[in-house]
Amino acid sequence: MTLQVNDLEVKYYLDDNTYVRAVSGVSFSLEKGEALGIIGETGSGKTTIASAIMRVLPENAEVRGSVLLDGKDILSMDKEEFRRSIRWKRISIIPQYSMNSFNPIKRVGDQLVQIILEHTEMDVHQAFEKVMKLFEQVGLPPETFRKYPDELSGGQRQRAVIVSALLLNPEVVIADEPTTALDVINQARVISLIRREILNSSRSLIYITHDIALVANLSTKVATLYAGKIMELGDVRKIFKEPLHPYTIGLLSSVPDIRYGRVRKLNYIPGDPPDLTKEIKGCPFAPRCKIAESICFTKEPELRLVDGRLVSCHLVGERKDVGTTNKS
Ligand code: SF4
Repeated sequence: MTLQVNDLEVKYYLDDNTYVRAVSGVSFSLEKGEALGIIGETGSGKTTIASAIMRVLPENAEVRGSVLLDGKDILSMDKEEFRRSIRWKRISIIPQYSMNSFNPIKRVGDQLVQIILEHTEMDVHQAFEKVMKLFEQVGLPPETFRKYPDELSGGQRQRAVIVSALLLNPEVVIADEPTTALDVINQARVISLIRREILNSSRSLIYITHDIALVANLSTKVATLYAGKIMELGDVRKIFKEPLHPYTIGLLSSVPDIRYGRVRKLNYIPGDPPDLTKEIKGCPFAPRCKIAESICFTKEPELRLVDGRLVSCHLVGERKDVGTTNKS
């Protein structure tokens, strides 16, 4: 299995015919068993990427680029074919808010059985057995089957969503901030489920979050996203050990590092992300970047290979101090 996102661009059109350029020129690939963490601040385009791959963007969205699954473009594929052969079957999603994932007036178990019946040759009995087995795997009691979504706690509902994402044995699972709405105990439970049911069973994972520690924990690769563009992309250990892009450096130095008793001064990135309804000249991070030079405000940097990872910065690899002394 290979998933290849090429030059993905998503614009949301507004009433006055202006638009928000939510995602711009995003490319990455994912092989079988790989886990890509996508991190960035709110509004950086993380969820839009997930929605574009799953083809669940709102009507005012315009998408360009391609998403190739084993060489076949699933964005230009007929909608019905996508629904029948890709969604849930080969790529599934665990969304941020589980409440919207189920029809509130149907029992949870019936909805899950229905997904299996629609997409496989299984009969009702086999589908029931499959759902019950997955309930057991994720620690949901059998009586969950007959409950309505609002009779489940937030943690139970998110585990039921994980069941729905695994029902048809997809090769790729996209987890979009799956623990945001949960308390700490349920967060830990969901993370260990993701590790056991997705990573340990050779599926591929796209994990979208602003929780950097989780990405370090779950991913093999990481992409930092800013203003809808990839700033740095590569091996998670390499980037977390020695980030090169000023934005990645800022992000990583804004979380506590308690490994090996290390104490690090916490920083934050001053300023706000750019207004994506306006055209951005140069590097989108320039107004917040401590080391920006004049070229940064006039010319957009391209993603280049530097030290075994892709970096979108004019100065990384060019100025010796960049990527080292600009850490604080
Ligand atoms: S291109 Fe310039 S502004 Fe952008 S991150 Fe690099 S140094 Fe900073």
